[in-house]
Amino acid sequence: MREPGAVLLVACYELGHQPLAVAWPAAFLERAGYAPAVMDVSVEPFDSERVRRAKLVAISVPMHTALRLGVTVARRVRDANPTCHIAFYGLYATLNARHLLSGPADSVMSGEIEAALVDLVRTLEGESRPTTPAQPSPVLAKLEFPAPSRAALPSLKKYAHLERNDRLELVGYVEASRGCKHLCRHCPIPPVYGGRFFVVPVEVLLADIRQQVDAGATHITFGDPDFLNGPGHALAVARALHEAFPALTFDFTAKIEHLLRHRDRLPELARLGCAFIVSAAESLSDTVLAHLDKGHTRADIETAVRLAAEAGITLRPTWVAFTPWTTLDDYRELLDFVETNGLVDAVDPVQFSIRLLLPPGSLLLESAALRPFLGELVEDQFYHRWTHPDSRMEALHAAVSSLVAGAAERREDAAVTFQRVRELADRSAGVMPRPASAPVARRTRPPRLTEPWFC
Ligand code: SF4
Repeated sequence: MREPGAVLLVACYELGHQPLAVAWPAAFLERAGYAPAVMDVSVEPFDSERVRRAKLVAISVPMHTALRLGVTVARRVRDANPTCHIAFYGLYATLNARHLLSGPADSVMSGEIEAALVDLVRTLEGESRPTTPAQPSPVLAKLEFPAPSRAALPSLKKYAHLERNDRLELVGYVEASRGCKHLCRHCPIPPVYGGRFFVVPVEVLLADIRQQVDAGATHITFGDPDFLNGPGHALAVARALHEAFPALTFDFTAKIEHLLRHRDRLPELARLGCAFIVSAAESLSDTVLAHLDKGHTRADIETAVRLAAEAGITLRPTWVAFTPWTTLDDYRELLDFVETNGLVDAVDPVQFSIRLLLPPGSLLLESAALRPFLGELVEDQFYHRWTHPDSRMEALHAAVSSLVAGAAERREDAAVTFQRVRELADRSAGVMPRPASAPVARRTRPPRLTEPWFC
């Protein structure tokens, strides 16, 4: 297992950024004396030669899209190299253990997996077959992090860029913490982390930021599920980043509740280089927010938008636009809210098509309120079906999904797409679509990443 390429780490999709979920396991393996190869099929072709050399192929599945792609990759791996061990790791691996272990995978792991992955390699090195329980538990032990190993990964140029002032800049990606202390019912993190999170030491982060700045990054995305889970740590990280790289800007994700609780820190975060904050607002309906157990209300969202603006930071809210409890009026009101609050350029149009995803293990599956709408588990697609009680919402979801996908392909102006989505929603409600106000061609748009998708 120690020869170069005997372990192959595969990324399928990490929201358009250079895959940290491969760079970190690579660093742990290198520290243990192995020489893993890496492959990111989101930006490079599937390389049968690399696969044939491997005795272990470990496929990273941190999100639903990655898992769907990962299963296809696993099939190709089996064809090219029938005897190698295939492991799936990441959030969606243990959630879907039953299906994965029935065919595509020999083992699965989730959570703080890097040391467990090294253990798996050692077991295979000893030529014994690892024993994998039918429903493996996530690994939640504290790790000693090395700096991620990025040298063998494709260049940052191949990944999402920051669009700012009509120019494209290279973006680095780090995580200051992993897991989350909250238990929002629709989120895939609680079933794996159970309300725990783990921080990454500041010096490890700085080393990782440095290597990405050296590769040309002028902006860093903190991909923590919630950067403000540990506010003291977050501030220490932001201060250290700014001291080491004063011109570097950054963005992070934090929940609305945290933005309100730590409102006094927003101006300092802006001074330290925070260009925008992503926040999973999810819905303006307090009924929907209660079902999701989001810990905020519509009024809180309005306050967060105001606080961020006062601090000079763009808030980019994300939404779960379609849930069984979201009414057509709620949907149309969301569009009004986005326009009234000047957020049209701060919401990627794909957000207006996002439908509640129910993976196996979702905490929502325990909710009695979901039961009337819940359908069967589509095991090979890794989600439970659900049906909206209002057939107009099902039709609207299909129409908006197709509209925003086409618009993204054409790189249509977000304001034009927004107006077209609104026309669809108005027509669904049987009212005359409001006339479009022509989007201003040369307006100042807030900074954004060029990869709008998430899931
Ligand atoms: S939605 Fe955000 S705050 Fe809630 S559990 Fe998931 S990561 Fe944590």
